[in-house]
Amino acid sequence: MDISQILDPLNKAQRRAVCSEAQNTLVLAGAGSGKTRVLVHRIAWLVQVENVSPYSIMAVTFTNKAAGEMRFRIESLLKTPLRNMWVGTFHGLAHRLLRAHWMDAGLLENFQIIDSDDQRRLVKRIMKEIGIDEKQHPPREVQWFINDSKDNGLRAAQLNPREFRGREFMLDIYSRYEELCQRTGLVDFAELLLRAHELWLKQAHVLKHYQQHFSHILVDEFQDTNTIQYAWLKVLSGNNLPQTNMSSFVVGDDDQSIYGWRGAKIQHIRDFNSDFNASAAAEKEVSTIIKLEQNYRSTGNILQAANAVIANNSDRLGKELWTADSEGERLQIYQAFNEIDEAAYVAGQIEKWIDNGGKRSDIAILYRSNAQSQPHEYELVKRGIPYRVYGGLRFYDRAEIKDALAYIRLATNRQDDAAFERIVNTPTRGIGQRTLEIIRDTAKSNQDNLWQTANTLIENKQLSARAAAALQKFIDLIDEMDCTAEAAEFSLAEQVTHIIETSLLKEYHGKDNSERAQAKVENLGELINAVKRFDDEGDPLLDAVKESLEDMLDKSEEVLSNPMSEFLAHAALEAGEGQADEWEECVQLMSLHSAKGLEFELVFLSGLEQGLFPHKNALQDYVGGKLEEERRLCYVGITRARQQLHLTHAESRTMYGRNEMAYASQFLTEIPAELVTQVRAVNNNMSSFHSSENNKPFSTHDSNEGDIALGQRVTHKKFGEGTVIDIEGSGARARVQVSFDYEGTRWLMLSVANLI
Ligand code: ATP
Ligand code: MG
Repeated sequence: MDISQILDPLNKAQRRAVCSEAQNTLVLAGAGSGKTRVLVHRIAWLVQVENVSPYSIMAVTFTNKAAGEMRFRIESLLKTPLRNMWVGTFHGLAHRLLRAHWMDAGLLENFQIIDSDDQRRLVKRIMKEIGIDEKQHPPREVQWFINDSKDNGLRAAQLNPREFRGREFMLDIYSRYEELCQRTGLVDFAELLLRAHELWLKQAHVLKHYQQHFSHILVDEFQDTNTIQYAWLKVLSGNNLPQTNMSSFVVGDDDQSIYGWRGAKIQHIRDFNSDFNASAAAEKEVSTIIKLEQNYRSTGNILQAANAVIANNSDRLGKELWTADSEGERLQIYQAFNEIDEAAYVAGQIEKWIDNGGKRSDIAILYRSNAQSQPHEYELVKRGIPYRVYGGLRFYDRAEIKDALAYIRLATNRQDDAAFERIVNTPTRGIGQRTLEIIRDTAKSNQDNLWQTANTLIENKQLSARAAAALQKFIDLIDEMDCTAEAAEFSLAEQVTHIIETSLLKEYHGKDNSERAQAKVENLGELINAVKRFDDEGDPLLDAVKESLEDMLDKSEEVLSNPMSEFLAHAALEAGEGQADEWEECVQLMSLHSAKGLEFELVFLSGLEQGLFPHKNALQDYVGGKLEEERRLCYVGITRARQQLHLTHAESRTMYGRNEMAYASQFLTEIPAELVTQVRAVNNNMSSFHSSENNKPFSTHDSNEGDIALGQRVTHKKFGEGTVIDIEGSGARARVQVSFDYEGTRWLMLSVANLI
């Protein structure tokens, strides 16, 4: 292969980066300017031209998907498979090192990696052992504290007890947790990085080995490295040993730093120059910064919008992006009535794209919070558009949703042992493993279900008084939630709301203020919305598949006729069937965070509303740092699009089962008006919403606006009585503005509002 194949597809600045002779090179450049491309070509250059062994190169990226992509691109450039190359994420590489050097790292040979849920369970167990009240001190906070300490390279023993006056138990839990993990061979995510760093520091021979083994380290998305990752790189690069000759090549964009909340520091870009030059051999240029300014990804309009938005941030390292591409289409801003309408618009545009010969895999729907995927998923399932939710669990697979569904299941069907198991002690209510074992064993020998067995054991006084009392409380709770057929006088949404409230799942999942916890609480709210939609519209797929449900769900015909069971079946199906297989050509749904580094021809940024995006936490942050991070996230979102970008927001959004007015995101106002077209729902081409005969978005309530007149008195189930003061649109998309006597003025979709 000749050099031209590596250099020809690059511009001048990119070439300069690829061939850089400096010991340390920082490529600082905006989105879509070819940073990742440069990094890949740099590796090809090193192997092909500088005869560096591919195995002495370490390349670090941010996600497994990016790592896979990078490996693929290098292999295609070099036209040879490179199975054992060190390409991976920080966590993946650390894991690989620890497996190889488990003894030097002080680990058990078969150590296991635990996820965040497992970690929390351990923390809880320890808190219980030492008598710390979970209600007063949420385990999540303790967990957050442990991980944050580890991310900053600090073990319990290294923390200053004097800073923990009154909270000494935090340190105590941390050190007990360390001890427990050590003894049982468990390693959490933060531990992987910390351990790998300690491996360098404590085992000089291991460090030396790798410093000799690797000649080049390359890092993509450098702006998002956290303290421990940065320290790990710095030590490996030989910063402490002037004689080493390791070369570092990092690429990043300060404007795309979006993990500040997880300890990432933009400062590392600034520090790179001084931190990584101590070891430079005298004859080499020490370090160089290369800026790339031409964007190859997006049309002129998209790029200008991105530039305009990010210009509102202060303290940037400063770089301009331009494109030789044409202006392209304008960005489209769609102001939806509500989140259902928003999802329908998005799906309609997707159908249009596909009808015009576009590919589904070129499309991404991006959102700020994972709970927002639900209406989109619903709409895509309904229209039979294959999709995949990337970088996050599918809605109905998420732990908090599975917990809530388990309550609903048990309340609907007491024989559901799996549901019983899942929630009998979630949230914790003092039902211990010992008690559970007795229930399981007795149920097994009596061939009875857990619920009945629990009742019998209490009745026959076969349990300790404490265990019996705790169990009885659980039984009473579920009985109180009853949603068997007799409970049907309440709507499904009312029943589910009641269950979520009384189960205390929101408190349980959302105790601390972390983003993850809040996302879980939002998801629980979204479940209520999903039930409402199901109640209003039914499930388009349900009838067709009802026949197979019996086997799938192991439920009797009779149970299936209960509306709540139908909803559960619907949920089970959406979790299992609505999802495209990985290989299928499908639309991608993901959070803005997981979209980093990726690109798509057609992008939808949905939910651009104050409080949602920018997130409400950022709006309450008066220092402004969080708002700037949200803006960077918006910049990341906009710059994912190559050809077409749609920005959507809703006038009202149902959050936590409540219908709230929503206001357009301030980021929308930061985009110059001449770059956008405002699409009003009423003017929209109706055909995009009805591209197939069978596709009636609101098929169960095909009301028409002729039934309603201005000035008419109407009654709404929740908002009470009011007067119609405005009417817009027609058919399934008609909406009315009602001035309610006690609930203010609201716009409502006529087809779903059920006005009488
Ligand atoms: P991000 O900041 O989003 O990670 P990036 O800077 O890593 O973006 P790349 O993904 O490497 O940018 O490149 C963006 C797009 O532009 C890719 O499709 C890439 O193939 C293309 N591209 C980059 N450089 C060139 C070039 N010199 N000629 C043609 N296409 C290019
Ligand atoms: Mg990139």
